[in-house]
Amino acid sequence: MGYVNLDYAASAPCLRSVLDAVAALLPWYSSVHRGAGFASTVTTELYAAARQEVADFVGARAEDTVVFTRNTTDALNLLAAALPEDTTVVMFASEHHANQLPWRRGRSVVLPVPASADEAIARADGALRGACSRHRLLAVTGASNVTGELWPLPELAAVAHRHGARLAVDAAQLAPHRAIALAGIGADYVALSGHKLYAPFGGGVLVGRGDWLDAARPYLAGGGAVRRVTHDGVEWANGAPRHEAGTPNVVGAVSLAAACRALSEVGMSAVAAHEASLLDRVTRGLCAVPGVERLAMWGPESPRIGVVTFNVRGLHPGAVAAALSAEHGIGVRDGSFCAHPLMTALAGDHAPEASGSAAVPLAVRASFGVGTSAADIDRFLFAIADLVARGPRWRYRLDGGRHVP
Ligand code: PMP
Repeated sequence: MGYVNLDYAASAPCLRSVLDAVAALLPWYSSVHRGAGFASTVTTELYAAARQEVADFVGARAEDTVVFTRNTTDALNLLAAALPEDTTVVMFASEHHANQLPWRRGRSVVLPVPASADEAIARADGALRGACSRHRLLAVTGASNVTGELWPLPELAAVAHRHGARLAVDAAQLAPHRAIALAGIGADYVALSGHKLYAPFGGGVLVGRGDWLDAARPYLAGGGAVRRVTHDGVEWANGAPRHEAGTPNVVGAVSLAAACRALSEVGMSAVAAHEASLLDRVTRGLCAVPGVERLAMWGPESPRIGVVTFNVRGLHPGAVAAALSAEHGIGVRDGSFCAHPLMTALAGDHAPEASGSAAVPLAVRASFGVGTSAADIDRFLFAIADLVARGPRWRYRLDGGRHVP
């Protein structure tokens, strides 16, 4: 019995073509911009090509800046550090912590979890109209990492621009499932992580308008971010190098670009169609199991990615995940998904909570992608039905926060 990975939303397994791209790079691996040496020249060219491939994948405008970062969290922190004075950031309480906490350090408005996509648009409209600062930014996710709903990005971009604001999209979950079309939807910035996009850990990106980035203090100070350094002064570079000081993560950039290439070759509409049929299968299957309660922000007809979050009445989510792993060889995620305000808002009266004073509601999340088959979904559904009917075979106890037999 092979292992079934239903935790793509945490990190998606690396694609074979991505591994091949990394293997092809390693013999020529050197640092970028280190003169005319052959390995450095090859690496510099690959790094530049990776930037262009990522820009194409997200549908960037020709003038957009593409800054390689460590991950989405890093990319959003970079943008937060580059906001001009007198900026108000508007966000929803449903965001992942990575798309809330960086903005909360400055002036910000946190809107309640909206009950529908239309309510999200109306609330954003009201908040941006009411913000009287010189600059405004609306920061939203492309797709929820908890409930999977796709956010109405073109409408939110239109609302933002109507009020002279910019739109930043946290595309950590959107990017593996849908075409982003940054310019097409009118978004101003997009952030994503390689490890959720079928590449290894360590590479991410911020793509978007260069003016705020060029006016900001460099994110890191050091070599590569400068034009000239004198005894007591420095002239900083503009564009991506300004925020990429130090030896860059070339493996991260090249593997992220290889993943973008592979997904583009398959076509994001084919990816979406594959996942839609799996989503339909899992949704109908779970509906048929008594005691399974799904978490959703919006109605069942709302478009969503391959993410399903639920609780099994009477069973602790940690024990459900432990039993799926130990008894059925299926990997899912349990916890509160770095989205505590959303989990709190979604929790019914009976939602299981983490113990201790910082109690946050918990749930189980199954998520899938291009490597998932209908047979994987059926095995998962069988396992859930089995758990509900017979309970876990073993007693699980909490050990260091994990449920173990
Ligand atoms: N935003 C969303 C919607 C996410 O799902 C995640 C990862 N769970 C992040 C941001 C943060 O991504 P990373 O940990 O790669 O920085």
